[in-house]
Amino acid sequence: DTLANKIAAGEVVERPASVVKELIENSIDANSSWIRVEVEEAGLQSIKVVDNGRGMSETDAEKAFLRHATSKITQESDLFRVTTLGFRGEALASIAAVSRLKIKTSQGDGAGTWLSIEGGEISDRSKSDARQGTEIIVDDLFYNTPARLKYMKTIHTELGHITDLLNRLSLSHPGIRFEAVHNGNQLFATAGTGDRLQVISQVYGMSVARKMIPIHRDTLDFSINGYIAKPEVTRASRNYVSTMINGRYIRSMQLSQAIIKGYHTLLTVGRYPVVVLNIDMDPVLVDVNVHPTKLEVRFSKDKELFTAIEGAIRDAFRQISL
Ligand code: ADP
Ligand code: MG
Repeated sequence: DTLANKIAAGEVVERPASVVKELIENSIDANSSWIRVEVEEAGLQSIKVVDNGRGMSETDAEKAFLRHATSKITQESDLFRVTTLGFRGEALASIAAVSRLKIKTSQGDGAGTWLSIEGGEISDRSKSDARQGTEIIVDDLFYNTPARLKYMKTIHTELGHITDLLNRLSLSHPGIRFEAVHNGNQLFATAGTGDRLQVISQVYGMSVARKMIPIHRDTLDFSINGYIAKPEVTRASRNYVSTMINGRYIRSMQLSQAIIKGYHTLLTVGRYPVVVLNIDMDPVLVDVNVHPTKLEVRFSKDKELFTAIEGAIRDAFRQISL
C-alpha cells in the first residue's frame, strides 16, 4: 500500500523540519545523550541524524518502517499515559514513503544493521559497524510526490523552520548535547550539562541569558519551572515563547496567553516575551493524542493550570522589583 503510505505521509511530513523533528524525537525516546543533525540545502537535499541511543536489533529495524510499528505503546491504557515523544508508529513509515532513506543501527552488542529504503520499500540490506546508536539519512525528500515538493518555500524559509525547531528541542532537553550543521557550517552546539540557562545562552545569546529571571511555582497538580526575560527584553513575535509539558515541547495558544497575561501591564502592544517554561504534571492530566504532529494538547484542569502560570510569572517579576 505505497499509495496509502504516501497519503498518510502528508499528515506527518509537511516539510524538511517535520522530518528533523520526528528523527530527533526518536533519538530522544531512545535515551540518547548526544544528537547530531546535518542538513544540506535546508534538508531538501539531505537530512542526517546521528545519535548514541539504544539502537535497534535487525528485526526491529526492519519492522520500524511498517506503519503503526511502534515499540512504545503496548496496551490501550498506555494511550492515557504517554511519556515518550512518539507513540503512533507512523513517522518512519511516512518519511520512508516519500524519500530515499538509509539507516545504520546497532545496540552495541557486536552486530549492526544497514538498510536502504526507497519509496517505502527495502531496496538493499547488509551488516554495518557496531557502534551503539542510530544514524538515519533522508535524501531527496518528496522526490516521488512532486505536488508536495512544489509547495516548499525558499531554502531560507525551510532552514528557519529547522532552526526554530532545533532551538526548542535543545531548550526542552538541556541534558542532551545537540550539534547542528547546515551545508557544512555549524549552526550551533549545546553542552548537554542539564543547565537550562546555559542552553538559553547558547541558543539566544549571552545578552538575553543575562536578563532571564527564574520562574518557580508548585501547586498540588503542577510544578512550573523556567525562565522569563526582564520586560526590557521583548520580541516582535511569539516565537520566543517556548512551552513544555513534562519536558515535551508543545505549542499552545492558551499557555502562551496565560504567560502574556502574567506579564500584565509590563508588555506593550505587539511585543512578546522571551520565555522558556516547563510544566511537570501527572500525564493523565494531559491529552497529547489530539493531532498527528502532537503539537496541540488538551488539559483536564485547564483553568487551574492557566491561573497557576499567570501567578508564577507575576511572582517572578515581583522578585525583581524588590
Ligand atoms: P514512534 O516513535 O511513534 O514509535 P516511529 O515511526 O517514529 O514511531 O518509530 C518506529 C520505531 O522505531 C520506534 O517505536 C522505535 O522502536 C524505533 N526507532 C526509531 N528511531 C529510533 C532511534 N533513533 N533509536 C532507537 N530506536 C528507534
Ligand atoms: Mg517517532
